[in-house]
Amino acid sequence: MAGDQRFIADMNVGKLAKWLRVLGYDAAFVNPISDNELVRRGLEEGRIVLTKDRGIAARRLATQGRLQVLLVPGNRVEEQLRFVVRTLDLDQRGRTFTRCIQCNVPLEAVEREAVRGLVPPYVFTTQRRFSRCLRCHKLYWPGTHWERMRERLQIEC
Ligand SMILES: [Zn+2]
Repeated sequence: MAGDQRFIADMNVGKLAKWLRVLGYDAAFVNPISDNELVRRGLEEGRIVLTKDRGIAARRLATQGRLQVLLVPGNRVEEQLRFVVRTLDLDQRGRTFTRCIQCNVPLEAVEREAVRGLVPPYVFTTQRRFSRCLRCHKLYWPGTHWERMRERLQIEC
């Protein structure tokens, strides 16, 4: 079932983690991280390892199928994301902007009244739906920033 995949991004495809979070996917990213640590977290946390490193894909754990590794082609993050979305048949729309892009944790919906004074007056006046990161408390709303990111994504297959 699409939507349950979790990821860990290698340093060589770090930007991918942010964009997978934009789509609402759990995508861990630690910099720096050793190959062994990357593999360990992939195994222990059931995360698909995203990397450009053929050495990791060639490890016995990966070739035996115990560790899922996806070798990511391309140098531009848009291109890389399109590849991951197509290959794993990820949901491109349903859960967009449900996760904090910085913290990789789910956002919770907040009442509009609760953000009065916490967001610019124009935003408060024009927006209806707000959500907040449980960890860093950053507020999100479907404004122009999100629209710009959505345009950049352009991942219609
Ligand atoms: Zn956060």
